[in-house]
Amino acid sequence: MIIVMKPHAPQEAVNQVTSLIKSHGLETHLSQGHQVTIIGVVGDKNKLCCDNIQLLPYVDKLIPVTESYKLSNKKFHPEPTRIRVKDLEIGPDTLTVMAGPCAVESEEQLMTVARAVKKAGAQILRGGAYKPRTSPYSFQGLEEEGLKYMAQAGEETGLATICEVISAQSMEAAVKYVDMIQIGARNMQNFQLLREAGRAGLPVMLKRGLSATIDEWLNAAEYIISEGNPNVILCERGIRTYETATRNTLDISAVPVIKSKSHLPIFVDPSHASGVQAYVSPLAKAAVACGADGLMIEVHNDPEHALSDGPQSLTFRIFDELMQDLGKYAALAERKMA
Ligand code: PEP
Ligand code: MN
Repeated sequence: MIIVMKPHAPQEAVNQVTSLIKSHGLETHLSQGHQVTIIGVVGDKNKLCCDNIQLLPYVDKLIPVTESYKLSNKKFHPEPTRIRVKDLEIGPDTLTVMAGPCAVESEEQLMTVARAVKKAGAQILRGGAYKPRTSPYSFQGLEEEGLKYMAQAGEETGLATICEVISAQSMEAAVKYVDMIQIGARNMQNFQLLREAGRAGLPVMLKRGLSATIDEWLNAAEYIISEGNPNVILCERGIRTYETATRNTLDISAVPVIKSKSHLPIFVDPSHASGVQAYVSPLAKAAVACGADGLMIEVHNDPEHALSDGPQSLTFRIFDELMQDLGKYAALAERKMA
């Protein structure tokens, strides 16, 4: 439920409402606009007698929130969330590009890719040190050694860094080296890991599960936020469908749907969505045109010999061309490229 206060309600009136809610063992979430304050109620609303709240001064109306996710819900927080990472602001005014190899393979490989994506205009370096691979015999990542190279690349280029975590141990290691953590599609409903991410103290990019509905995805975000970390970015990376021409099917409608249901920034990953190098740039443009706040793109110095996801990785030349083209799309979408 949300409680909408009358315009210019004084702080004492807001406090009176929040104390009544808290006295019933429920939590509150405040969203203070220029004129109107909205108080979100988190917890079992049956504990609350709505009639009593309605009687308090300056209470305008009570609106039920039927969705099970509250803190990630736009009704609780009408303003789009802005997330600061280093000197970047991720949010409604900017287009943020994360780029880098699927996996960190060596110091030299990562440094080469980091310099190239920086030069092309990316702001965040991606690179997996812990790879959740379908086969246990595939390359699993350099683990902490890979994280050290990420930190080094971030330092040298000034790029912010993001790395996927797959367990509590990898999270503990990652927070020492990178600026953001990523929860991958396969772990979107690893609720214990989501709670840990909520306590990690770094912004989290939460990728959509392979077969997750938007509702399940926003509930997964709720796990992170409810542990005290409001800095969550959602990333649409394609879903499983009957289509086999692409690795997954990019659900481009997830962008406007998320915008209508949530205040969280939404990114698109056209690399995992398509699995095909030639499809990445057109899908990236479509994502920007329909309102995405950012992109995550795989780039490799030598895609043919990449240890993972070579077929979908862009060469430096293709990435460079894409970045130049994206400037026009960003301008049409009224966003600044950071
Ligand atoms: C990745 O970004 O490298 C990755 C494994 O993506 P996803 O979790 O979307 O499959
Ligand atoms: Mn990959």
